[in-house]
Amino acid sequence: MQKIDSYDFSGKRAIVRVDFNVPLNENFQITDDTRIRAAIPTLKKVLEKGGSLIIMSHLGRPKGPTGKYSLKHIIGAIEEKLGTKIKFAPDCMGAEAAELSKNLKPGEVLLLENLRFYAEEEGKPRDLAEDASDDVKKVAKAEMKEKQKEFTKKLASYADCYINDAFGTAHRAHASTALIAKYFPNDKMFGYVMEGEIVAIDKVLKSPVHPVTAIIGGAKVSSKIAIIEKLFDVVDNMIIGGGMVFTFIKAQGGKIGKSLCEDDQMELALSIIEKAKQKNVKLYFSGDVIIADAFSNDANTQICADNKIPDGWMGMDVAPATLKEWEAVLRASKTVLWNGPVGVFEMPKFANGTTGIAKILADITSTGVFTLVGGGDSVAAVTQMGFADKVSYVSTGGGAMLEYLEGIELPGIKAIREA
Ligand code: AMP
Repeated sequence: MQKIDSYDFSGKRAIVRVDFNVPLNENFQITDDTRIRAAIPTLKKVLEKGGSLIIMSHLGRPKGPTGKYSLKHIIGAIEEKLGTKIKFAPDCMGAEAAELSKNLKPGEVLLLENLRFYAEEEGKPRDLAEDASDDVKKVAKAEMKEKQKEFTKKLASYADCYINDAFGTAHRAHASTALIAKYFPNDKMFGYVMEGEIVAIDKVLKSPVHPVTAIIGGAKVSSKIAIIEKLFDVVDNMIIGGGMVFTFIKAQGGKIGKSLCEDDQMELALSIIEKAKQKNVKLYFSGDVIIADAFSNDANTQICADNKIPDGWMGMDVAPATLKEWEAVLRASKTVLWNGPVGVFEMPKFANGTTGIAKILADITSTGVFTLVGGGDSVAAVTQMGFADKVSYVSTGGGAMLEYLEGIELPGIKAIREA
């Protein structure tokens, strides 16, 4: 494994997997360019050091080539941010892609069309009938594996070295995110986005300064179980908020009205409470909540204890008094990890808890607390409030970050690290 800072790029063509899966509006304008901005330092570094670039990414979930998901829509944004004109290969496997990459001169940039126009990128057969027999599926999968090898080999043939800077897809063993690495045994490395993510998450998981507090929110307990259990090995305090807290409250005999609840997870919720005790982790639930008589921004509201919610009402956000208690815990911490909103923050009436957490984190970061924010909705909350650069690190990879936190070795990381 090489390092981008010490690698000699002069005269070399670097194929870089980035995550340019940006949201586009109906006029194909980018509505959030965070992911493009994030990759620019890596791309500029290669160019500054005398290399040329072949940029590859996916966009959306196309089932085949389609104008809607063409990366041509983002050429202008890349050119503007990189400060240079770029070439575009309208088929990542076409003769033009091979020709253009062969002729790249130092300082030049080539963007390949959406990798997912080919099923080979993900390695899953696309045209299999749902009711196909197991034998047919087996043959199709084996054929796809062979095709994927050819696809990967061809991508690798365009370049002299490989950089993975797409943390958002690091949890997928796709052609461009993992399989390609083996063609560059001595010339593969992480880009700065990947390096930054790994360092930030390891700062919480592997060498945190205590006390460590995790705030886990969001809708479902079931999707966060693995992380909660893994974090018990690391944290001193865990604050559980959002919709998922009501499964814990009901499991302990509380009245939760018509709040969100996963009845089939109640036993698990009790076992989590038990595990927290064994591991000496202090659990904080919501205490007081803002309840509503409908799932609507126009609903009537009142404040009540989270275990005494009247019939027909539901918990929608943490109440100010509880937020104050959480704040004291956060202010006494040295490391804080936040994943998931603590209320239905999409509705302004129930966003105060989530924006409150964002404000507290921004504030304690300025006093030296290491604060890591990850997971789509909490990232959206800090970004919307303009606090993204006021916390220590905002993780761009939702699913990848969660899997990394769960302790899973991500294929995209493994492929670069292994000899
Ligand atoms: P997740 O993707 O699991 O992190 O969940 C995020 C979603 O949880 C957001 O859409 C929130 O609106 C939702 N959420 C947070 N708190 C509540 C709540 N008390 N009741 C219902 N949904 C909630």
